[in-house]
Amino acid sequence: MQVVLLDKHNYHNFQPLLYQVSTGGLEPDSIAYPIRKVLQGYPNFYFRLAKVMTIDTASRKVKTNIGEINFDYLVVAAGSETNFFGNENIEAKGMAMKTIPQSLNLRSLILENFEQALLTDDLHERDALMNFVIVGGGPTGVELAGALAEIKKGILPKDYPDLDTRRAQINLIQSGERILPAMSGQASRKAEQFLERLGVNVWKNIRVNDYDGNKVTTNTETSFESATLVWAAGVQAVGIKGLDAKEVLCRGNRLRVNQFHQLEGFKNIFAIGDVAQMETEDFPHGHPMMAQPAIQQGRNLGDNLVRLIDGKPMKPFVYKDKGSMATIGRNKAVVDLPKFRFQGVFAWFVWMFVHLYFLIGFRNRVVVFINWVYNYIRFDREARLIIRPYKKQNQGLKNQLKKGS
Ligand SMILES: Cc1cc2nc3c(=O)[nH]c(=O)nc-3n(C[C@H](O)[C@H](O)[C@H](O)COP(=O)(O)OP(=O)(O)OC[C@H]3O[C@@H](n4cnc5c(N)ncnc54)[C@H](O)[C@@H]3O)c2cc1C
Repeated sequence: MQVVLLDKHNYHNFQPLLYQVSTGGLEPDSIAYPIRKVLQGYPNFYFRLAKVMTIDTASRKVKTNIGEINFDYLVVAAGSETNFFGNENIEAKGMAMKTIPQSLNLRSLILENFEQALLTDDLHERDALMNFVIVGGGPTGVELAGALAEIKKGILPKDYPDLDTRRAQINLIQSGERILPAMSGQASRKAEQFLERLGVNVWKNIRVNDYDGNKVTTNTETSFESATLVWAAGVQAVGIKGLDAKEVLCRGNRLRVNQFHQLEGFKNIFAIGDVAQMETEDFPHGHPMMAQPAIQQGRNLGDNLVRLIDGKPMKPFVYKDKGSMATIGRNKAVVDLPKFRFQGVFAWFVWMFVHLYFLIGFRNRVVVFINWVYNYIRFDREARLIIRPYKKQNQGLKNQLKKGS
């Protein structure tokens, strides 16, 4: 028996901490881990760095950029990507934060904006460079907004003493009536209070319609002039050619599976994680696109594949909801466990412990822990480096702002 893992990256990326890379709190290397190292030592395991292009279900072949691979059993776990809901302007001019390169782009852009703000004597342009718009009030948007607010308060005045950084604005825009909509009302309210205390402008019931690189327009009278729009308002499953039959494909590219993760109509093709939609009584639209369902599904399917090969019956998947959490900043987090809810300092320690526990690699845990202790004591984030400058497509910012004013 051979187990072949194909991935277009040679590393595992711990997505919950991407916002800390974007805001200079952590180095990217500390939240990534080589796939070969995770699985080394298994004699029948093979890794190939390859991008999957098409799956030919009839001939049982996976077509990749490095050639074709035959399979007896196939597991699709390709995860998700940013969903711009067809808005090409936002996709081209806005920033996403789903991968390490994207987080590094955002880190560079934030820092470049402040460097540029120092150079312009046009107040209008300066404000736009220091005006940040984050679209999406889920955990990603909330965590990023909180981190930016802390940078504004603790770091910018020291780094840019010759710039009036009090004018910097962090706007979090949520289309619904509360932020963190997947969490309890108590967690949403507390998170909003935490953000407001940090000086974040929380806008609710507003939908962003468009962005031309300078101006963010919404479905209301409110608009924002901003050189940075971060889109954290949606994800969709990674679509893979060949797995797009009507009975399989659901909303947001997810693949309909039964309780054994088998794709509708197939006995030997499985899907797990963000890409899979297992409709149950408790989760009629599939499980949440989060780490716990993905981890639990991976474990269940691993056991089931061994059982299948041994000729034993497979065990149906049952999701155990262990709760959810989000951090807003220093000493500020919200935690919803199945039986308890709490917010504040203790929640923040729980958040840190859980994230350290799930981070892959002993070295990464040590590095992240030391960074967090250092940042806590020193009120600092020292990875604010423009290593790989980011060129935003907003040439003529000054001209456009002038025209609009
Ligand atoms: C910014 C951010 C913050 C998050 N925070 C949290 C959180 O706090 N808590 C939580 O529970 N969840 C969080 N999530 C969601 C969580 O990370 C995902 O639900 C989880 O990673 C899904 O696991 P997966 O195995 O399905 O996909 P992934 O972990 O995304 O893995 C998919 C893999 O497939 C590879 N791949 C994709 N397409 C191809 C292709 N065509 N060919 C080859 N390889 C391919 C990718 O390189 C990747 O390695 C967050 C996500 C983001 C983006």
